[in-house]
Formats: sequence, C-alpha cells, structure tokens
Amino acid sequence: MVTIGELYTNVKAILKKIDSDTYLFDAKCIMEHAFMTELPKLLISSATVASEDTVKRIKKMLDKRETGYPLQYILGEWEFYGLPMKVGEGVLIPRPDTETIIDTILEKYSERTKNAPQIADLCSGSGCIAITLKKYIPDSSVTAIEFSDDAIKYLRENAQLNGADIKIVKGDVLDERTARCFEKLDILVSNPPYLTGEEMDTLQTEVSFEPELALRGGDDGLDYYRKITPLWRNSIKSGGIILYEIGMGQENDVTAILQENGFENILYSRDTAGIIRIVSAEKKQED
Ligand code: GLN
Repeated sequence: MVTIGELYTNVKAILKKIDSDTYLFDAKCIMEHAFMTELPKLLISSATVASEDTVKRIKKMLDKRETGYPLQYILGEWEFYGLPMKVGEGVLIPRPDTETIIDTILEKYSERTKNAPQIADLCSGSGCIAITLKKYIPDSSVTAIEFSDDAIKYLRENAQLNGADIKIVKGDVLDERTARCFEKLDILVSNPPYLTGEEMDTLQTEVSFEPELALRGGDDGLDYYRKITPLWRNSIKSGGIILYEIGMGQENDVTAILQENGFENILYSRDTAGIIRIVSAEKKQED
C-alpha cells in the first residue's frame, strides 16, 4: 500500500534521474494524468492510499519514460501557445521554439493579419501552427498541408478539439501540382524537416521516437527550403510574406535561397534561447 504523497515522492525521484531540469513539471504531468486531478488537489489528500490500478498505471508510464520515450507521447497531449494539441507516434511534438513563428506573425506582420488573409501552412504535422493562427486571426482562411496519414489523423483531431475551422489537405508540398492549387496567398508558413544527416545520426533518444519524415532535411538540412521556395513562390501574392522555421545557424543559407527566388526585406526572429529560429521575407512587388 502506498499513499498519494509517497507515490508523488517516488515519481519525482525516478524522473529526477531522467531529467533533473524538468522533473518537477514532468512529475506533475504524470500524477495529474494518472489521477485525472490537479496536483494541488491531490496533495491535499496525500495521506490517502492510492488505488492499485493507478499505481500500476504510473509504473507503466515511468517504465516507458525510462526508455527515453517522450513524455508528450505518454501523456497524449501537449500545449502549444496555450492550446491543447493531441500527439502520439507518427507526429512531431510541438516545440516551444515554434511559438516564435506565431509571435512573429502577430507582432511584426500585424498589418498582414487584417482583411481576411489567405494562409497556407506547409508540412503542418499536428497542425499546431495552422490551428493557432486560425484561433488568433479568426477571419483568416487557413489551409494545412500534410503528407503523412498518421500526422493528418492528429491534425484533424486537433482542429476539432480547438474548434478551428481550417482546411486540411493531404498533399506533397514538394510536388508542383500541390503548389499550383494555391494562389495569392498573403502568408505562407512552414516548419519543414531541417535536421542535417549528421544530426539525424546523433539524435537525442526522445527525438528518435519521432517521425523521421518530419525531421530529416537532407545532408545539410536545407532540402525543403531549396525545393519549397521556387515551387511555392508563384502561390504567394506580390508583397505577401513567407516564414520559415530553421535550425540553428541555417539563417544565411535560407536567406540566400529566399533572395535568389525574389524575396526581400529579410527578417530574423529569435526563440527564447536567443537562437535565430524564424526567417521571414516579403515577395517583391512585380511590375
Ligand atoms: N526542432 C526539431 C528538433 O530540434 C526539428 C524539427 C524540424 O526538423 N522541423 O528536433
């Protein structure tokens, strides 16, 4: 027999060995998930004996976590920009870094968010970008494009969960025919796969459980920027904007790709760690 208080102490001790920076938050998540109750309420009843069933459930979650399996997949849900997103195997876990893309649009391109903008999100994955944009720019028309059936399952679920009326398209963003279905976009946004071959060979254990399709960006990580930029430039209206999430240190290469394809007024935005995470630009006005 174990009390809720003892169980919480054990959970913290085990999680501390896995990640001493995040264990308090991780323990809170696991306790709340297992008991379906908020931690403060649980702690008030810390002398109560925990049911065997709950203890077993927690043990199972911890065993998984000890193999490096991501906490987000264990919980089945993660927060992005304050919104809940369902996640599981086959879909990239939304990262706080990616919130920079939303900040950038709302802060630096606020003019573009007026007058019912047309927005496309390429390689949408869980849909976190597309759904958040729709929530914060309600009169926008947002299309989320994703190739993987596994990811689309989550995308649909997340759109519904958040009541976001977005269009979901299964498509290959590297296929010219997909790009040709879009025209006069005000905003094109993408967090494409951008890890290099070397980074793919030395992935953190947690990340190795995530879909390779969402991570591998070719030898130098730049494949998608090289292909998407010329293919989709005609789908963006004159003066429209493009925003890419990038890996650390990719800004110069991505800037060059954008400039070669007729984009100007390049802007960088940094994530909370101070790393340039978003490169955005405007499509030159055509005369
Ligand atoms: N940010 C992810 C990572 O560091 C990579 C996501 C991506 O390739 N778009 O693991």
